Order: sequence, then structure tokens, then C-alpha cells
Amino acid sequence: MEQSEVFSAGEKWIPAILADACTGCGLCVEACGPRSLAIVEKIATLAFPDTCGSEEHWVSACPENAIQMIWAPFSGDMGAGQWRKVESQPQLQYN
Ligand code: SF4
Repeated sequence: MEQSEVFSAGEKWIPAILADACTGCGLCVEACGPRSLAIVEKIATLAFPDTCGSEEHWVSACPENAIQMIWAPFSGDMGAGQWRKVESQPQLQYN
């Protein structure tokens, strides 16, 4: 399987932000090398999930423990981040 292959159904290891715990401080945005996170309406958001490298360093950057890594349904270019293939499940699109 080549890196440019696109999964029709899969899961990607990505950060999930707990909105109730996030203060919008922006430390995770600064810690993210590929700049996949952004502050949107004062809450950290995975604004560019396709560039996410699943690297987890933003988890330790958060003073509020507001970020957890999860396997989330995903589709797109598997060239970035950690993926696992799922045989049959509904697809979610992240724009
Ligand atoms: S570091 Fe934590 S509290 Fe600060 S913006 Fe990111 S998720 Fe929110």
C-alpha cells in the first residue's frame, strides 16, 4: 500500500479536545509542528486534520489535560499520521 493511497474507510489517531476543559490558552497550537490545531471561538480545534502527524506532543503541552488522543473515523490521504483500516463503518468527512 502506497502512502498516497486514500482509505475509503479507516480510523486516524488524532487529538480530541475536551471543550469544557479548554481555556483557549493556545499552548497546544504552539506545540503543534504541522500547525494542525487552531483556536476557534476560544477553544482549541483540530482545524487541519489532514496534516496531523498523530505525534501527541500537544497532549503534554496542555496544562488543563483537555486533550486526549483517540482513534476516529476518517478518510483522506494516509501520508500523514497513524492509521488503521476498518472493514466496514460509516465515513466522516473533516473539512
Ligand atoms: S493547551 Fe489545552 S487549554 Fe490550552 S488551548 Fe490547547 S487544549 Fe485548550
